[in-house]
Amino acid sequence: MDTTHDIILVGGGLQSGLIAAACHELRPSASITIIERDEQLGGNHIWCFHESDLPAGAKTFVDPLVAVRWSRTSVHFPGFKRTLTGAYAAVTNHSLHQAVTSMLRRPGCSVELGVNATVVTAEHVQLDDGRRLTADCIIDARGARGPVAETGYQSFVGLEVELADNHDLDHPVLMDATVDQTNGFHFVYVLPLGPRRLLLEDTCFNEDAELDRPGRTAFLHQYAQAHDYTIESVVRTEEGVLPMPWGAAEGIPATAEPLPAGYRGGWFHPGTGYSIPVAARLAETIARHAHRTDRRLAIDKLASNVRAQSRYARFLNRLMFRWYPPHQRVNILRRFYGLPEPIIQRFYALTPTPLDKARILVGRPPAGLSWRHRRAQGRPSP
Ligand SMILES: Cc1cc2nc3c(=O)[nH]c(=O)nc-3n(C[C@H](O)[C@H](O)[C@H](O)COP(=O)(O)OP(=O)(O)OC[C@H]3O[C@@H](n4cnc5c(N)ncnc54)[C@H](O)[C@@H]3O)c2cc1C
Repeated sequence: MDTTHDIILVGGGLQSGLIAAACHELRPSASITIIERDEQLGGNHIWCFHESDLPAGAKTFVDPLVAVRWSRTSVHFPGFKRTLTGAYAAVTNHSLHQAVTSMLRRPGCSVELGVNATVVTAEHVQLDDGRRLTADCIIDARGARGPVAETGYQSFVGLEVELADNHDLDHPVLMDATVDQTNGFHFVYVLPLGPRRLLLEDTCFNEDAELDRPGRTAFLHQYAQAHDYTIESVVRTEEGVLPMPWGAAEGIPATAEPLPAGYRGGWFHPGTGYSIPVAARLAETIARHAHRTDRRLAIDKLASNVRAQSRYARFLNRLMFRWYPPHQRVNILRRFYGLPEPIIQRFYALTPTPLDKARILVGRPPAGLSWRHRRAQGRPSP
């Protein structure tokens, strides 16, 4: 017998968690079910975001998913350090699992764990336990679909470590790029998760999707030693290889039915690999439009906006991977982090203005557009 819902979310990762949280806040009467093949939601992840990544309407529904927050971040490059004053936050697989399962404890909703979806169409979802579910809105958020053709890669190996002593870091280091740059842009991401707890993540932007796990783990141990972090135990590891697409058609949001959402549908920032800025906008749009036709139109409009912005981010990827030799890529990022913070924030949120885009590419605004230059000439600011 068919079971019917308002919304079925296939795949219980970041995107489905955000949609469930958005509906809980904005459309609490909707009946929702999440289908996840693992025994818990969220896999093995820490997802971070800048608070300025979120549209105003998403802050309240993302909030309950957050496990840790910091009031600032920093970046370290050879000869250049900068503190960024914007707040930063982390959602962990545990915080996502707990928040979303408790939100979906209401009547008509469910979280189905350990169940594989074998067929996903616009009308129904077939489960491997024989059940068949139907819904007005079926969202396919089963994660990455397959290899991307024209792309560079961002690869990570992360160690969440417990130290023998307290560290003195009170904010995340987004990039410590004072490390060897021979094979591509290379940095260590350092996230203080507790007085003695750090996530140390070795990250590299290069052409290679291979992950040298032992070599990079050994490097992280050396990095810890060089920074006087005595590792008592490694409590968790994470790793991944994310595409940084530069092809014209790669990584663009798709809007077919059933709606491919999250990574599967291209709802991510091609220039940073972060999903939250774009996935939160999609979640809000789905939750705000109960009616099928309205929802369709709103998603199409959002997708076209994200596509236009993604085109610029893919162009920057092309510059980095096609025009710059690996050892010089660090200079692109070093220059980017010298820009005014609002430009950096809008780039991360995938909402740069035309002027931001020009400044990211060419540095200071052309003299004719510069407010100070125009004022000196007695001309109004643009
Ligand atoms: C190491 C690493 C660090 C990252 N850090 C960040 C970060 O800091 N910030 C950020 O925004 N992004 C980050 N990302 C990117 C981000 O993790 C992904 O983009 C994000 O998880 C995509 O969300 P999603 O919901 O599309 O897919 P996922 O989160 O991968 O979820 C897909 C889910 O679908 C389930 N599934 C698959 N097939 C089936 C099936 N047939 N039936 C049922 N369930 C199924 C899977 O088990 C999985 O739980 C990081 C990625 C990696 C690898």
